[in-house]
Amino acid sequence: MNLILLGAPFSGKGTLARQIAKDFGLVHISTGDLFRENIKDGTEVGNLAKSYMDKGQLVPDSVTIAMLKERISQKDCKKGFVLDGFPRTIEQAKALEKIAKIDAVIELDVSFDEVRRRCLGRRVCSKCGEIYNTSTYNKTTCKACGSPLFQRDDDNLETVNHRLEVYEKQTSPLINFYADRLFVVKGENSPQETYKPVKNFLKRSD
Ligand code: ADP
Ligand code: ZN
Repeated sequence: MNLILLGAPFSGKGTLARQIAKDFGLVHISTGDLFRENIKDGTEVGNLAKSYMDKGQLVPDSVTIAMLKERISQKDCKKGFVLDGFPRTIEQAKALEKIAKIDAVIELDVSFDEVRRRCLGRRVCSKCGEIYNTSTYNKTTCKACGSPLFQRDDDNLETVNHRLEVYEKQTSPLINFYADRLFVVKGENSPQETYKPVKNFLKRSD
């Protein structure tokens, strides 16, 4: 089974993707994570991606598609995968059609106001990377390791508004593109509540 998760930034795609991957034995592929690994390793793709990511813009399709293609061609993906953060443009979706069969697309529906709240409230541990939100954990040190929490540079109103604009313009047309395979779920409840209908849907389609 090959799946796509669609949704605005901060809609909870990563959390849902990990849960699905674990329960259904799929590989979780996040293009954001792949780019961050490339940046950490100082690769050519990483250097190129960084300038776009810092501005909240999409990395050019040619680069993103090549990276994703390479990842999907690896052996572990034969058991099926769940894509988190790809495709983000119609061009990416068309390229994907040529390399893999997508069984279902799950759209996480979250209001833009909730996205802004989640963005501005996000705190990250400076040591272990654990992520918190001030709405559920309003302390200045990490629960897991005691290190100070910080706010990422890109977690500000200007950047999140820009990312929402990019999502609206470039990614939301995919909802129509995949209309024949789309399952929509409300993403404003807890991760567990959000997962329930998705799990039932996937059990039926598995
Ligand atoms: P989030 O911080 O919401 O988890 P991601 O980690 O998915 O966001 O992506 C971070 C950044 O990586 C995006 O803002 C974008 O610049 C780049 N990126 C990730 N996936 C894609 C893609 N499919 N196409 C173009 N750019 C991408
Ligand atoms: Zn920590």
